[in-house]
Amino acid sequence: MNRWEPVIGLEIHVHLKTRTKMFCACAVEYGAEPNTLTCPVCLGHPGTLPVPNARAVEWTVKLGLALGCEIAAHAVFHRKNYFYPDLAKGYQISQYDEPLCRDGRFLVPTAEGELEVGIVRAHLEEDAAKIVHVGGAGGRIGGADYSLVDYNRAGTPLVEIVTRPDLRSADDARRFLQLLRQTIVELGISDAEMEKGTLRADANISVRRAGDTGLRTRTELKNMNSFSFIARGIEAELARQVEVWESGGEVVQQTYDFHADTGALTARRTKEEAEDYRYFPEPDLVPLSPPPELVEPVRRQLPELPGARVGRLRADLDFEAATGLVTSGRDRLFEAVVAAGGEPRPTANVLMNQFATAGVDPAAVEADEFAKLIAARDRIPRDTFLRAVAESGRPGFAAEPYLAEAAISDTDALAPLVERVLAENPKQVASYRGGKEGVLGFFVGQVMRETRGKADPKVVNELVREKLRA
Ligand SMILES: [Zn+2]
Repeated sequence: MNRWEPVIGLEIHVHLKTRTKMFCACAVEYGAEPNTLTCPVCLGHPGTLPVPNARAVEWTVKLGLALGCEIAAHAVFHRKNYFYPDLAKGYQISQYDEPLCRDGRFLVPTAEGELEVGIVRAHLEEDAAKIVHVGGAGGRIGGADYSLVDYNRAGTPLVEIVTRPDLRSADDARRFLQLLRQTIVELGISDAEMEKGTLRADANISVRRAGDTGLRTRTELKNMNSFSFIARGIEAELARQVEVWESGGEVVQQTYDFHADTGALTARRTKEEAEDYRYFPEPDLVPLSPPPELVEPVRRQLPELPGARVGRLRADLDFEAATGLVTSGRDRLFEAVVAAGGEPRPTANVLMNQFATAGVDPAAVEADEFAKLIAARDRIPRDTFLRAVAESGRPGFAAEPYLAEAAISDTDALAPLVERVLAENPKQVASYRGGKEGVLGFFVGQVMRETRGKADPKVVNELVREKLRA
């Protein structure tokens, strides 16, 4: 693998969470009764006319600016023609050679520094209906008894982002997507949830000899619905291509599905890929010309981007912790807690573990109170600390009552308990005395359990050592 360099580009689809669809007034909603959010426009009745959603245009501009793109002075909607029941009109309104946003760059921090990922384009289009094939294997049309179409999704606004093939590992691709997702969420334009399908990503993958600059044949990887599946899918496809080249074969341009449950890649039938969409400008829509009065205020209001924030946090934290805080949306709370006196590393640790497990909303937490908890974390009983962390997002939360619950550090109170635990576990005592020092943790754990986590672990540790020496 070292002799081969991965070359990866991504195509990402983002559902905008506008109130209404792209070209009609139907509501955008997930989980509604099938075919209840439709009208003559999104059902493609003859004679109906599309009216663009101004909010969707504004949000695409916003996203384009965050991706460092140029915003076109003249963008055109095209018809992408194809025959399939997921679009009743017989074409999808999309953008072709004059997209709304183009030529951007997005910075992705890496363990070694920073990677600049070129953005070819970001354009606006409408989504197709959802088709469910019933009775076939794995939801495929082959072998299905019948198919159902739900037009609620037809006509919902979708942004497609295409990157240059600048990513050099599956990990880079995953991190790029996590930072992109966080950017989208913070811009307030989409929930961008892979599980719900409001963020979807396909990867274009090839490999080349280390040192080469040309590109070899690429394949497309689809059907990946989580960040870890994407990384695993890309790894699997890279390994497959290297093996093909090394065994004297040739990689064929094709589309693959990655099956996360088995780790297998399956090639799609080439027929499904035939791409001749006879694009032509949509005659029912005038070109889009976002005026500077629309673009400039949006540009000025852009928040600091997640990639830049990871760069800043690295002064205090290791790369993984910095990335984790930013991509989980906890970095602003982290910085506020540190500003209020919290030590950086323990604060990051608690936010990424106990805080995350408890599912607390970072925006609801008072940094001053949280900093007090962090400072007291070794002094108060473990279960009290965990309880306080879990409650820290409640309105009016104060650390004080929790800090008052002192850990049991009284040696006289703990000694009999330690003695009893040792007496009840003679085998473990023997193995400790026989040199297995790791058993110490077992005894401490037992005492902590007996006190329901209220004992001071440091005192218990010392006591257990002392008694075992005796
Ligand atoms: Zn409609």
